[in-house]
Amino acid sequence: MMKELIITDKQKYLEENYPFEGMPKLTDKLECIHCSSIFTVGDYKVYKDETGFEFICCPNAPECNGTVIDWI
Ligand SMILES: [Zn+2]
Repeated sequence: MMKELIITDKQKYLEENYPFEGMPKLTDKLECIHCSSIFTVGDYKVYKDETGFEFICCPNAPECNGTVIDWI
């Protein structure tokens, strides 16, 4: 079961956890290829699974199961 984490400093969290080169700005608009929505990066959500792994997720989670790898 995934549990949502409340991130108070979204800039810092993204800097520490963004898995790729070239981290987007919180004000950037990206598209989630899972739900085809355009969202503001700073609206991302974080969910933690039972192993403790934290996923940076689409703002439309949990309805959308897209994560940071699905952002274009
Ligand atoms: Zn999505």
